[in-house]
Amino acid sequence: MTKFRAKLTLILILLIGCSMLVAGIFMAKVLESSHVNSLQENMERELHVIASSGVWDYQGTDAELIKYYTAQAHRLKDATTERLTYVRADGKVLGDSDQLPEQMDNHLTRPEIAAAAKDGIGYTTRYSDTLKENMLYAAIPVKNEAKVTMGYLRISLSLAQVDKSIRSLWYFLVSGLAILFVIAGIVSYRIAKGITRPIERMTKVAQQITNLNYESRVPAYRNDEVGQLGQAINRMSESLQGQMARIQENERRLQGVMENMMSGIMMIDREERIMLLNPSAEAILGFSSQELLGKKYNEAKQQYDFTKMIQECIELQEPISDEMMFYYPAERILDIHLSPIAHEDEEWSGVLIVLHDITAVRRLERMRSEFVANVSHELKTPIAAVKGFAETLLAGALNDKETAVSFLQIIFDESERLNRLIGDILELSKIESKRIPMNFSPVYLPEFVDRSLSVLRKEAEKKHIELSMTVEDDMYIEADEDRLRQIIINLLSNGIAYTQDGGKVRLRVEPLETNADGDYERLRIIVSDTGMGIPKKDLPRIFERFYRVDKARSRSSGGTGLGLSIVKHLVEMHKGTIRVESEVGVGTKFIIELPVIH
Ligand code: ADP
Repeated sequence: MTKFRAKLTLILILLIGCSMLVAGIFMAKVLESSHVNSLQENMERELHVIASSGVWDYQGTDAELIKYYTAQAHRLKDATTERLTYVRADGKVLGDSDQLPEQMDNHLTRPEIAAAAKDGIGYTTRYSDTLKENMLYAAIPVKNEAKVTMGYLRISLSLAQVDKSIRSLWYFLVSGLAILFVIAGIVSYRIAKGITRPIERMTKVAQQITNLNYESRVPAYRNDEVGQLGQAINRMSESLQGQMARIQENERRLQGVMENMMSGIMMIDREERIMLLNPSAEAILGFSSQELLGKKYNEAKQQYDFTKMIQECIELQEPISDEMMFYYPAERILDIHLSPIAHEDEEWSGVLIVLHDITAVRRLERMRSEFVANVSHELKTPIAAVKGFAETLLAGALNDKETAVSFLQIIFDESERLNRLIGDILELSKIESKRIPMNFSPVYLPEFVDRSLSVLRKEAEKKHIELSMTVEDDMYIEADEDRLRQIIINLLSNGIAYTQDGGKVRLRVEPLETNADGDYERLRIIVSDTGMGIPKKDLPRIFERFYRVDKARSRSSGGTGLGLSIVKHLVEMHKGTIRVESEVGVGTKFIIELPVIH
């Protein structure tokens, strides 16, 4: 029970209790006086009844009179239980139901008798010396026909009896009051509860809202002021819930953007502490949020020039952008943008740092310019040869027929090479820019390999090279047939080119990774030769564009240095892998692994 409810209950109980007490006392007083009144009326009536039976007719001596009236008094007392006294007009007591008249003094001066003589009826309440208790007296004068007072009749009642009946009156009153009081208490409590309960509910809801529980609502109460307050609280919490949902939605969106953006975002607050770091920034800087958040930017173990840049931005209060080489966690080039964050009311509230990893972009740019340089260089050589021999011919070599023919043959060969070179460059750039779509279809391998070999058979025979193949029957692969052929012919022609006369070039196709049904999911194509091999130091680079182990030999074999890099691209377009194993003087083995189904 709350303090307020207890207080309210107490106040209500006190109010009801006090008014009941006042009403009770008043009622008791009224009851008491009406009780005494009715007693007195009864006594008067009894006195008149007794008087009407002609009490004063008896004649005789004093002693006789006393005897007679005393007997009379006793008789009447037996009937009424009230003390009866006969007093003669001169005040002498002639009879008494409780006392001997001889021992009683003159009663004319008794207040009730005096009042009776004066007003016709007299009442008093006083302590009786004779009976030693409080008594209520009532007396009337008894008159004859001539209206002469013959004497007085007096009856008295022990007040103990009156008190007893008043006490029982009080007893009923008090017990009634007590019951009423309990009922009042219960009613007060219910009333207080009725008033305070909605307030308590509202307080609870308000507390829950403070604790971010916006779903909490005040139950619908009556339509009075308390009910309206409840409704107002409900509307407030609804609006808060809506606003909070919007804020959370925005926060989620912002969080989503921050988490998924490629750029690294870092924020530094007024106190120069790092207060925000998105996952990209973590990856770029090689530090986790836990390591950096809350740290001062200059204590965050960052590269010196980066820290310096932030400091400069804070000092200048101006945006700064720069490209910077980072060496941790890996060597990278970063494009860094710093801008001070300013709000209208404040000078500045921090620095926003945006980091872009432009290593790949720069590397690509470098590769592109290198490629252009390589291409120019590669093109220059055959053109220089064509130009040189043509010049020599023009200068007069034309006259020597034999020389002229050999020169023209060189010019033809070089232009042929130029043609191949341009063809390869175009092919490579097409593949690299991913402009050509893949055209997958099932390829029946035994037939396909056989046909590819037959293209090169002539060339092999020229060098007396044994060309052989091993393919299991009923082997299929899903592939772009033209590109798969390009791969195989390129590798086989390299094998033939870099193998001495009388050597061997072999092609083997074998299934790989059979599944539960016994079907293969991948297959391996191996092109091996017994040629000169590739030195170990060159192995990692042979798939690079224009890379040749021995320029002179490659040139004499008509190579462009682009064949393997085209092969590698084509294999990757088939989601396969290619690797090379080689030993100088023993031979070379290119191993391709391809998935069967796309
Ligand atoms: P090229 O047109 O010069 O053959 P490739 O890209 O096809 O260019 O090959 C790159 C280089 O790899 C070749 O110049 C050669 O030195 C080496 N190479 C390729 N295949 C073989 C092989 N089967 N045996 C020995 N060396 C090879």
